[in-house]
Amino acid sequence: MGILEAELQELQQCVPRVIADSTVEACVPAMVRVKIEKTKYKQITACFQFDSEYPKSRALIELKSRYVSDKLLDGLTKLSEELADKYLGKPQVLHVLRFVRNFIEENPLCCCSEEISNIRKKIIEGSDELKLRQKTSSVILKVKQGQYFLKFNLTVPENYPDQQIKVEEKECNYPPVFRRWFCAQSVEIARQCVEPPARMKPKAPPFVLKPSMEPVVSFLIDEAHRYVDLECKGCGKRAIPEDPKDTEMDEYGDLHVERVYCGHIYHYNCLDTYIKTPPFQKGKMCHTCGLRIFHDKWKLTQETVEARWAHKQARQRELDEVVDFLS
Ligand SMILES: [Zn+2]
Ligand SMILES: [Zn+2]
Repeated sequence: MGILEAELQELQQCVPRVIADSTVEACVPAMVRVKIEKTKYKQITACFQFDSEYPKSRALIELKSRYVSDKLLDGLTKLSEELADKYLGKPQVLHVLRFVRNFIEENPLCCCSEEISNIRKKIIEGSDELKLRQKTSSVILKVKQGQYFLKFNLTVPENYPDQQIKVEEKECNYPPVFRRWFCAQSVEIARQCVEPPARMKPKAPPFVLKPSMEPVVSFLIDEAHRYVDLECKGCGKRAIPEDPKDTEMDEYGDLHVERVYCGHIYHYNCLDTYIKTPPFQKGKMCHTCGLRIFHDKWKLTQETVEARWAHKQARQRELDEVVDFLS
């Protein structure tokens, strides 16, 4: 029996035993193909071909996967080749399979390698950072704009992307109204990636589950950048102070920043004045986008606002008369 035949026989017997989650799909002199599938998305198929010099020459190694990015597979193939080179003259296949299996085990983020590489290429800008933590299967996102920053921990669950990422705020010096928005909306975006809407619109295309890391990271980066220098739509001055230390923490303070339903921002006092001043007509619209303004702090109905306005005007007339009278 040739040296290759002996290796093939050995592989047939021991691969399923020593390489966890593996299936031998082919094991003949023309080709060895082994599929390693820890989960649907943590899956790599390793193919080996041999020339007539094998094992004095290196096996031809090809790694394939539907969900691991090409860039990562290329790197992994190079490392596999280097490993096989160390075993020239001896059986090489099992060593490479062990290496690939360990890689999947020790790099749980391989199931979102495509997304991570997209984020780094297209979404991250300037001093933003995305750090990988393979040990905890998580990434740390840091975004900076002016003197403001946020740091979020995004954990990738075992059965990602069937289950969405877990979002956690670690540090953030944005005003509370934004911190609440960043957290609540990230969780919501992640949920919508995996859960179909409760009521589908009649002509909507069927729901397709999608990975949740990229949409959440993209949201956090966009929002963290755009709010810092936005102006208040009431007074035209910047809505949040340049220095985070000057943030108005009193919920009803004049300069407390308010985020209305459409996403635009106003100072508390500017919004309060606008809402309580005519014309009232069909309710108050946002200066920027024209959408109706909704906010929990101003739940007054149109009639109440108008009645209060009329009352205030009447009071003022009375006061004016008194002033007239006394002068
Ligand atoms: Zn203002
Ligand atoms: Zn608006």
